[in-house]
Amino acid sequence: MPVLRGALLATCWAASLTWTSSAQADAGFERCLAGLRGDALARGVSAATFDRITRDLQPDMSVLERLDYQPEFKLPIWDYLAALVDDERVAEGRAMLARWRDTLGKIESEYGVDAATVVAVWGVESNYGKSFGKRPLLTSLSTLSCYGRRQPFFRGEFLTTLRIVDEGHLQPDRLVGSWAGAFGHTQFMPSTFMRIAVDFDGDGRRDIVDSIPDALASTANYLRRSGWRDGQTWGYEVRLPSGFDESLAGRKSKRALSQWSALGVRALVPGQGKAGASAQSQGMATDAKAGLLLPAGPQGPAFLVFRNFDAIYSYNAAESYALAIAHLADQLRGGGAFITPWPTDDVGLSRAGRRELQTLLVLRGHDIGEIDGMIGSRSREAIKAEEQRLGMTPSGRAGQKILRLLRDDKR
Ligand code: CA
Repeated sequence: MPVLRGALLATCWAASLTWTSSAQADAGFERCLAGLRGDALARGVSAATFDRITRDLQPDMSVLERLDYQPEFKLPIWDYLAALVDDERVAEGRAMLARWRDTLGKIESEYGVDAATVVAVWGVESNYGKSFGKRPLLTSLSTLSCYGRRQPFFRGEFLTTLRIVDEGHLQPDRLVGSWAGAFGHTQFMPSTFMRIAVDFDGDGRRDIVDSIPDALASTANYLRRSGWRDGQTWGYEVRLPSGFDESLAGRKSKRALSQWSALGVRALVPGQGKAGASAQSQGMATDAKAGLLLPAGPQGPAFLVFRNFDAIYSYNAAESYALAIAHLADQLRGGGAFITPWPTDDVGLSRAGRRELQTLLVLRGHDIGEIDGMIGSRSREAIKAEEQRLGMTPSGRAGQKILRLLRDDKR
C-alpha cells in the first residue's frame, strides 16, 4: 500500500488526539482483537501465537494522527531529489556495492536485476539499513485494525504480520517500522513480504531485517515481479525540440522510441539509452515503448522512461520517488547530475547542507530539535523567522539562498 508507506520520508506533523476515557478505549480494543481471532486462525495463524501476542498489545492512538495527516508543505521536486540523491548517499552506495559485490552478483544472475538498481532502492528506502522506522508493527497495525478509516486494509496487514511471526521468519521485537507497517531494509508491508520476500542466505527464514542478502534479493525479486527487463535502461534525460507539444508527456502515454525520435526528442548524452551496469546491455530497440516525463514542467529536465522505470515506480507509486532511485542508480554507476537545470533560482540542499542550515538556525537561538538534516515543522518555522528578519518573503523552505545568507550573516 504505497501511499501509506512513506512515513520515513515524511516530515513532522503536529496534532493531538484526546481520549475522554482510555479505559473505554482499551475495553473496545480488547473486544476488537478478540473479534479478529477467528479470522487469524482461518488464515493459518496458530491459536498459541495469536493469544500470546494479542495478550499484551496496547493501542497506540498516535498512529491515527499519521493516518489522517495531510502535509501542508509540498516539496518541490528539486528539493526532494537534492536530499535523496546527495553525495553522501552516492558514496555510501558505492561502498555497499563493493562490500556486497559477491551477493549482488549472485542476485543479478538469479533475478536479472543489476546491483546498482538494487542498492539504489536500498539507499532510498532505508538509507542502507539505517532508517527502518521505530514503531512496533504489531502495535501500530492492531491499532489501525480497530480504529480509523482503513480498518479492513490494516486488518489484513495485521493478520499477515502474525503469520510472519508464526512461521518463524521474524520475532515480534524485530518487527519495527513506519507507522503504517513498512519494515526492514526494503520497507515492505507485511503482505508484500509474504508475496515477495525470499530466503537468499539459505537459513530457512525470510528475514529482511537482519539479513542483508535476504533483503537485497527480496528487492530484486520485487522488481523482477514488477516487469523488470534485464539489461535494459530505466530511461535517460532528453532534449525537447522548440515548440514541443507538452500534452504528449506522461509516464503512461507510451510511444515507440522511433516515434519520439520523429517528434525531435533526442538523448542529451550521446550513446545513452543503454544500461551502463550490465554486460549484455544494448541500446533500446526503436520499437521499445517509452513515456515522456516532465517532472517540473517543460522548462525543466525531461526524460524518456521505459518499462524498467515502471517497475521501480511500482515500489512506491510516485514518479518523483522512481526518478530518485533511477538517478541514484545512474550515479552509483558513475553517472553525473542531470544536464538541464531545474527551473528555479534557488536549488535544493543535500542532507549535509540541511544539517549546516539547521546548525546555523540553532546558533541563532531557534529550537528546531535534533540537527538531523530532516526539515520538519520546527525547522521550517525557524527558517521563516530568519527569512523575515533578513527581508525575504517567508517560505519556510530549506534552499541554497537562505543557507548562503545565514552563512554570511555576521551578527
Ligand atoms: Ca534467510
